[in-house]
Amino acid sequence: MKIFCVGRNYADHAKELGNAVPEEPVIFMKPKTALLQPNTPFYYPQFSNELHYEVELILRIAKNGKYIPENQASKYYDAISVGIDFTARDVQANLKKKGLPWEKAKAWDNSAVAGNWLMLSNEMLANPIHFSLNKNGEQVQLGNTQDMIFSFDHIVSHISQYFSLNIGDMIYTGTPAGVGECVSGDVLEGYLETQKMFELEIK
Ligand code: MG
Repeated sequence: MKIFCVGRNYADHAKELGNAVPEEPVIFMKPKTALLQPNTPFYYPQFSNELHYEVELILRIAKNGKYIPENQASKYYDAISVGIDFTARDVQANLKKKGLPWEKAKAWDNSAVAGNWLMLSNEMLANPIHFSLNKNGEQVQLGNTQDMIFSFDHIVSHISQYFSLNIGDMIYTGTPAGVGECVSGDVLEGYLETQKMFELEIK
């Protein structure tokens, strides 16, 4: 199982971190050890003093493929969830300054949270999908698929030009504006429309 992530897929988020809006999808990966397993506590990482949440829609790959044309891409994913691409922002800032890869900031153990999966329907995909994150009961991020720079189909097609996609792979499709810090004791809840997909307490 592979975890792909899209960076800067919402213009307002790219702006809030002072990044240019990309001309092609920014793709990075997390190893499977990054996926927080069910009923496992999430601990604040000891190497960071600035842990950020990034709420994202996640796609689940349902069919093996490579060089997938964009107009066929929707056949290659079947389920959606909401999760968090946890980021050690202080570590990332240091790495970015030096032009170094992001893994220490993004790909550490348990840095990928995934909620429950919902089977996708054509009807769902035909309309904007809204998702949000609450921190301690207050909404801190709200996004919808209409604001994505690169669509689900474009992302799947683009990734498959470089990497084989396999059943069970996951794609984190980017975060909207509103990313921010969290500390021990914070409770994070992710929503797809009005349905709660996960709840997590930072230990
Ligand atoms: Mg992200």
